[in-house]
Amino acid sequence: MTFTAQILTLYPEMFPGPLGVSLAGRALEEGRWACEPIQIRDFAEDRHRSVDDTPAGGGAGMVLRADVLGRAVDHALERAPDAPLIAMTPRGAPLTQARVRAIASGPGVSILCGRFEGFDERLFDARPIEEISIGDYVLSGGEIGAFTLLDACIRLLPGVMGAASSGEEESFEDGLLEYPHYTRPQIWEGRTIPEVLRSGDHAKIAAWRKRQAETITRSRRPDLWERHRGGPDQSPSGARRETKKD
Ligand code: SAH
Repeated sequence: MTFTAQILTLYPEMFPGPLGVSLAGRALEEGRWACEPIQIRDFAEDRHRSVDDTPAGGGAGMVLRADVLGRAVDHALERAPDAPLIAMTPRGAPLTQARVRAIASGPGVSILCGRFEGFDERLFDARPIEEISIGDYVLSGGEIGAFTLLDACIRLLPGVMGAASSGEEESFEDGLLEYPHYTRPQIWEGRTIPEVLRSGDHAKIAAWRKRQAETITRSRRPDLWERHRGGPDQSPSGARRETKKD
């Protein structure tokens, strides 16, 4: 079964765009996923085919109309009733690797891309829509968010990544950031590759990588580290626990 991405957008010509090259592009050619952009404007019914209007209550910008969006979403739901329907919104649940993995294991995804000030709120009450954010910043439209979500899913589809295991050791898969990588040349600007990586001792290498991943996560992302350790990283006294140095 082909993982099918329906993208509801005012700019269908943006797709597959960056997903048409490299890993995702090859996977698209091989039929491992299907890209189906849907023009939201096709569901406008007035003479001017308008999709937006001024915000009720006043203020800047324009709001995407619930009636037009409702018809577009119904079309997507009819074509892919079992795929999650996701709206890109800055207030949505932050996208995680766990959610990406769950979506990638399903039949596909339908993604609603906002523009202007966003969507008429009533849409979210009337349809089964999950809101997802790709980070705490504001984009001009949901399309870049859709690329992000799709790229993260596509690389996990069966047969897309070269080495079957290369997805499993990566950042976030075990709740940790990844260990550092090195490749030839052995010496670059006077800097050498860590000795252990040239030892050929696989157990020692695995242990070193695990320690590196832990150290990097602890220093760069204390939030991830705490979750990985199972809850707040605190001693009974409430003082922050010193974790053993390597
Ligand atoms: N008025 C909104 C921002 C609208 S930006 C607010 O203040 O929250 C226009 C569109 O870009 C949004 O409807 C959404 O689809 C998309 N977008 C912007 N930032 C995003 C983010 N961080 N994650 C996902 N989608 C985003």
